[in-house]
Amino acid sequence: MYGGGVVEKCIICEETGKQGIHLYTSFICTDCEKAMIATSTKDPIYKYYIKQLKAITDTKIFS
Ligand SMILES: [Zn+2]
Repeated sequence: MYGGGVVEKCIICEETGKQGIHLYTSFICTDCEKAMIATSTKDPIYKYYIKQLKAITDTKIFS
């Protein structure tokens, strides 16, 4: 689990130091979380989100 002092880096925008949520072992900032929710599944960027999220779950499965 997370200890103190870990710099959270958003897996979508790769910015650090923002508010956000933990998903598995990764972090998504509030801005990207909202953007993802608001994005249509038909939008090309949605595939990017899925790709990033898949990277998380793959890491969890194989770690
Ligand atoms: Zn972000």
